[in-house]
Amino acid sequence: MPIIRVALNIPIDTLFDYQAADANQHDIGLRASVPFGKKLVTGVIIDVSSETQISSEKLKSVQAIFRDIAPLPAALLDLFHFCSHYYHHPLGMVVMNALPGKLRSNKPVKLKTASNNGQFTLTEAGKQIDLIDIPTRQRLARRLFIELNQSTVLTSDTAKQISPGAIKLLKEWTQLGWVSVIPIPVAMAPRIRKILHLTPEQEKAVSTITAKIKQFNTWLLHGITGSGKTEVYLRVIEKALAQNKQTLVLIPEISLTPQLEAVFRARFPTTHLINLHSGLNDTERLSSWLQAQQGKAKIILGTRLAVFTPLPNLGLIIVDEEQDSSFKQQDGLRYSARDLAIFRARHTDIPVVLGSATPSLESYYNALRGRYRSVRLQSRAIENAALPMIRCIDTRINKIQEGLSEPLIKALTQCLAAKHQSLVFINRRGYAPVLLCKSCTWAATCQRCSSRLVVHLRDKQLCCHHCGHRENFPRACPQCGNQDITPFGQGTQRVEEALAIHFPDARILRIDRDSIRRKNAWQNILQTIQAQEVDILIGTQLLAKGHDFPNLSLVGILNSDASLYSTDFRASERLFAQLMQVAGRAGRAHIAGHVFIQTEFPDHPLYLALQRHDYDALAQTLLAERKMAGFPPFVYQAILRAEAHDIQLALNFLSQAANLAKPPGSVEIFDPVPAQMLRLKGLERAHLLVQSSSRKQLQSFLAKWHIQINTLPIHKIRWVLDVDPLEF
Ligand code: ADP
Ligand code: ZN
Ligand code: ZN
Repeated sequence: MPIIRVALNIPIDTLFDYQAADANQHDIGLRASVPFGKKLVTGVIIDVSSETQISSEKLKSVQAIFRDIAPLPAALLDLFHFCSHYYHHPLGMVVMNALPGKLRSNKPVKLKTASNNGQFTLTEAGKQIDLIDIPTRQRLARRLFIELNQSTVLTSDTAKQISPGAIKLLKEWTQLGWVSVIPIPVAMAPRIRKILHLTPEQEKAVSTITAKIKQFNTWLLHGITGSGKTEVYLRVIEKALAQNKQTLVLIPEISLTPQLEAVFRARFPTTHLINLHSGLNDTERLSSWLQAQQGKAKIILGTRLAVFTPLPNLGLIIVDEEQDSSFKQQDGLRYSARDLAIFRARHTDIPVVLGSATPSLESYYNALRGRYRSVRLQSRAIENAALPMIRCIDTRINKIQEGLSEPLIKALTQCLAAKHQSLVFINRRGYAPVLLCKSCTWAATCQRCSSRLVVHLRDKQLCCHHCGHRENFPRACPQCGNQDITPFGQGTQRVEEALAIHFPDARILRIDRDSIRRKNAWQNILQTIQAQEVDILIGTQLLAKGHDFPNLSLVGILNSDASLYSTDFRASERLFAQLMQVAGRAGRAHIAGHVFIQTEFPDHPLYLALQRHDYDALAQTLLAERKMAGFPPFVYQAILRAEAHDIQLALNFLSQAANLAKPPGSVEIFDPVPAQMLRLKGLERAHLLVQSSSRKQLQSFLAKWHIQINTLPIHKIRWVLDVDPLEF
């Protein structure tokens, strides 16, 4: 009898065998419901075989093979295999993590026929209907009929406003043939003028990439902010569409999706586009996923997880802001969506375009040594839009008060007078990062994390930004009873307060994670900015990325010095990317932009490079440092992480693991050390670094070592292997 080998969401790196009388090779990639322990669970059939190692008395039979949707394509299964090998994560967990929630459940899915977001119109038959003929829900039916008669079409949004039950009724009528569904017409999509003339640089970029549209290459589209990378993407996608191919566009985990989606829809109004961002509910995700899997969706816009979407006709992958750390998942399966995108492109033999104004040093270095092909855009796309003038304000000379220096206040005043917008950037939300006792130096800390509690003055609370813990403001110092406890340092709320005092007539808007909690807050904020109903923006990194504010001419940067001397070797790279991005918000259209950085270190090489907009200078410096110190991209790293209630347990485990390891000479193992941030969410963490200048050697070592670690008794600890770690 045939045996199916099933990948299950179980933390053991093996496939599970079941008897399946009617299974054959065509079932590979289908879901199956199988008994596991006392339960039924769902997995994916990875192989169909005639043999098994399982003894016949232990071998169980499959409960059901779901044939509701087509099997996962072989190329996707290959991606899962690669991902499982490379990240040393059980195949079943890789596979099940990638599937939409509804496909992980133990039921076949019901496929919907009519789409929700169309509009309804009466058919000829519908026009003949008398209300008397409708037995149920008379009042709702009457309203809907009146609407349909009056306005010829009824959008599903309007119908939902009339009553939540309206759609259901309209669908019943659709089945009765009284109503038909028509897709939303092209005219309703926002119109954005097509740019007819590419800049010479864009022209060159587009022709270089499209000349090789049918083969694998990793293109590094390295273009300064405002150079028009989006337009290059659009033209390359146009080419892929012309060949009836699908394009996967990966974007960072930020609120940019609606904006980018609008741009894409406007340019390709008749193209089927889906958005697979992280905010979808299960039903929406499944529906979008199926449209991709069936090849109907031609453009798939999505965040990290979208890299696992089945795309039978994939012709192009774009990774926008490729340096963004949100492409790397930081828990569970610690994959890099960018790196998997490159694997996928190579495997499918199609181009992948990595876009950035400040590429990751890994990508930059790969371009330098010819592994990636570099395409550069060095000037801004809009005529006369110069790069902003970046200057440092030396805070050793210009004292700061409530976070703001005199020259910055002056610049803000001038900007207000000119009726331009300005942005004050401080990457720390809340009122102040610390609450201090002036007499005994007590500082409020989180019980569960090695971190200070952040003062949120408005809610009179102290919050931990790592674990979410909140507590009330103490009346007095818990250590010495002194009542003189004060918030120390600056956060967005405090800067907002200070600006309001300096500029009582200005319209000030704070944008951070606290202020965008409400649904649609982002859309409203962007509209407010675009409609010029705000003069001064205060924002964290949320505002730094991708947004185009044509009337913004001034950016002030506060408190960036901390990252200059961080212990994290990637801190400088990240700071530079972030500041370039923020600075890039200024002067994008026809007004000149100015950027002021308040700093105690105006001569720091990072700031000097920033003032000259010289990414290459900084990248060369950082690469030289990394080479000297033996850091990536000159070595490949992996980290074995362990956490426990007591650091000693974690360290002991890591020592045991280290003792098991028999690394070849080309692989270096370091001593276990406590993590930078020792406690997180009540657990103490430690790690052990492994590195090698050969990725291959590192991988083959990790594969063997991983199996050995798995044999260790685990007592009250959790561990995970993180390949190409971004955090320490
Ligand atoms: P980037 O993503 O590289 O920072 P964008 O793609 O946002 O830059 O483009 C910046 C601005 O330049 C946008 O307003 C865009 O409409 C405009 N733009 C892009 N290409 C051209 C062009 N060829 N001619 C005129 N304007 C352009
Ligand atoms: Zn005290
Ligand atoms: Zn905490």
